Amino acid sequence: MALERVGKILKMADEANTSVIAFNCINYDMAYSVVTVAEELKKPVLIMLYPEHQYGFNDTDLRGFAEMVKSLASTVEVPIGLHLDHSSDFAYIIKAIKAGFTSVMFDGSMLPLEENIRLSKKVVEVACNFGVDVEAELGRVGFAADSDEERMDMYTRPEIAAEFCRKTGVTSVAVAIGSAHGVYLETPKLDLKRLEEINQATDIPLVLHGGSGIPNEQLEVAFTKGINKFNVGTEFFQLYYDSIHEYMKAHEREQNVNLLFEMSKYVQEKLMTYLRKKLQLSKF
Ligand SMILES: [Zn+2]
Repeated sequence: MALERVGKILKMADEANTSVIAFNCINYDMAYSVVTVAEELKKPVLIMLYPEHQYGFNDTDLRGFAEMVKSLASTVEVPIGLHLDHSSDFAYIIKAIKAGFTSVMFDGSMLPLEENIRLSKKVVEVACNFGVDVEAELGRVGFAADSDEERMDMYTRPEIAAEFCRKTGVTSVAVAIGSAHGVYLETPKLDLKRLEEINQATDIPLVLHGGSGIPNEQLEVAFTKGINKFNVGTEFFQLYYDSIHEYMKAHEREQNVNLLFEMSKYVQEKLMTYLRKKLQLSKF
């Protein structure tokens, strides 16, 4: 079927009292694996592109990526959503919308609150005209490499979350409750009480970033307390890298270009094995 509205998938997740999982992808191997396993398990998923992977490394291009995901979605029955991850660049967001992204994240978490509200609202107004959903960030998720104190100062406050949602009209909001981007130095501990309070104060789906390395027991609770979108990047990229590395190492002594053509299949199978397990967390 055609790409599904991300807002609609988040609503389905909310009704099922669970979270959809959003995977950062850079290419066909990754996106194909996600869509194939989603269809196999009949669980909706989101595919995300992180802007820097596009303009910083030329891993893909905006329109090409959007068309690829659209084409993959058209071959399956399960709802597939397409989302642009963290961008604070208004012009880039418009470019992504025009390229076919049906959901975008405006990340104003580094800005003063009033400025974050003003710009998030501006993105919502424009996105609305294109039928595109908007995720914003309130508080600051930050990086796993930052100190705990630094990150705790940035946690989302429930009363501000309520005001933020009311004033901006965003579809969903990413909250800072103890997760972080990158590789955790210690096992993270989500502030589930705060999550519960934010969930009570707001009536839109909440998003958890920094999903690589959070224990499943914590995730399962978070998914029943308002988290309806869960982002996974780091561990998926790591697995992709490790799989290529493993394949090359196994064939180190061979000098045959045909190995290149068989590599995708090998990597896709590794990714799909991981995805079959990971998607069990998403209780659709
Ligand atoms: Zn993030």
